[in-house]
Amino acid sequence: MELQLYNQGVFDKYKSNTQRIRVLSEDWAEKNLFCVSCLSEHILKLKAGTPVADFICEICQETFQLKSQNNTLAKKIVDGAFSTMIQSIKEGTRPNFLFLQYTKDYCVKNLLIVPSFFFVEEIIEKRRPLSENARRRGWVGCNLLMEKIPKEGRISIIKDGAILEKKEVNEKWRKVDFMKKTPLSERGWTIDILNVIHSLSKKTFQLDEIYRFEGELARIHPNNLHIKDKIRQQLQILRDKGFLRFKGNGAYELD
Ligand SMILES: [Zn+2]
Repeated sequence: MELQLYNQGVFDKYKSNTQRIRVLSEDWAEKNLFCVSCLSEHILKLKAGTPVADFICEICQETFQLKSQNNTLAKKIVDGAFSTMIQSIKEGTRPNFLFLQYTKDYCVKNLLIVPSFFFVEEIIEKRRPLSENARRRGWVGCNLLMEKIPKEGRISIIKDGAILEKKEVNEKWRKVDFMKKTPLSERGWTIDILNVIHSLSKKTFQLDEIYRFEGELARIHPNNLHIKDKIRQQLQILRDKGFLRFKGNGAYELD
């Protein structure tokens, strides 16, 4: 895997910097990027104009959207139309999200993947409609709230210029890919409970400490009247999937 994006030909051909970066990063991904899900050597660029997705793995059919920028990963990432985003989440047609950060001299510094199944409505923020004077007045975009995605859903492929082992990346993917088969509402719960656990910043914690978030979780899930049961159910799922260990007497330990 090479980290250099720069290509003089692309700079000569395109005058807009946005276009240059899009072409450079797509060319780079097609030449260098493997499929995180099945470890196929290549992902294939989809025809321009394909809605949402930019790449597909021909072996396992996972799709990918690539976003590149030269700043560090922000807490919020501006994305496309709010209604399209919510619809694709509900229909389960989101591609996996690849976020690429490059350096001043056009080298890949960081690349991470957020699996499609970490996209739940709670991580999407509706933006204000564009003003009367805008060309697309009334259009409503959205932000991705990256900080609401637990670390299990932000899998690094390249970190601070270091290329991580494919096997290690794929293991992290496989650890969470059970969520792909679970319904959207259940996935939202798994993500919420992971966020609650991480907010404690402890390796071992008590069930009671999670119960303290009952009110907050009830606000996110107003139709659920059995929040404590749901908490225990999710902790059990996280234990079965190897994220936690039960230590007895209501104590848990993160893997
Ligand atoms: Zn694949």
